[in-house]
Amino acid sequence: MTDEIRLYMFQTGVLKCKENNIKMNASNDPYEIPVPWYLIIHPKGNIIIDGGNAVECATDPVGHWGGITQVYWPVMTEEEGCYNAIKKLGVDPASIKYVIQSHLHLDHTGAIGRFPNATHVVQRVEYEYAFTADWFAAGGYIKKDFNKPNLKWQFLDGQKTDIYDFYGDGTLKIIFTPGHSPGHSSFLVTLPNSGSILLAIDAAYTTEHWDDKVLPGFLASAVDSVRSVAKMRFIADQNDAMVVTGHDPVKWGTFKHAPEFYN
Ligand SMILES: [Zn+2]
Repeated sequence: MTDEIRLYMFQTGVLKCKENNIKMNASNDPYEIPVPWYLIIHPKGNIIIDGGNAVECATDPVGHWGGITQVYWPVMTEEEGCYNAIKKLGVDPASIKYVIQSHLHLDHTGAIGRFPNATHVVQRVEYEYAFTADWFAAGGYIKKDFNKPNLKWQFLDGQKTDIYDFYGDGTLKIIFTPGHSPGHSSFLVTLPNSGSILLAIDAAYTTEHWDDKVLPGFLASAVDSVRSVAKMRFIADQNDAMVVTGHDPVKWGTFKHAPEFYN
């Protein structure tokens, strides 16, 4: 479609939950969060980051997600499924070379196994944890989304390689940001015209988390969560980056969404 490096922002609808699912000790009031995902157009191969919910959530949320739907209720259309969305944009699904996972929670695994030529990239510790999660975290992992036959995987070792320049050209740096989950990654995308954009993903759900005002309503480690935010703030400052938090219902609306893009 183009040789220009671009970043597209998409969402697979919203999740309906309670405010305290997102902000620790907050109210039990209804709260609605967007489910973002991203496409990077790059001459070395196009990349999907996450992919939002599996498209099955559009038609059969309980069948696909089970009991966790009592906490997070997905509202999306089939058109918002990542495969359909990139086709609608005019991007060939066969051109997706990598599906890179921030982590393997259920609202991030919609792209896995959907793109015929894709290698799937995730922190090794996240992949292992997804199969052996502790009781309080197990509901967030839908194994049928990532435990599919014939998937190609590339595992990252974030404990050794804190920041990984994926294509070696500075476009996409994968930052190890554990805490929300044991093997979470965030992303620094640097574009010719727009400069640096830091995709915190779930290492900072909202601006309040970024600003150390509140802990997230869900986490694997409070200490690691807080330190990963501090690490990202340092990197964002150094790179003068625009910050995109993972599920902020207000801030998300201020960014350019596909078919608009950053270049
Ligand atoms: Zn998550």
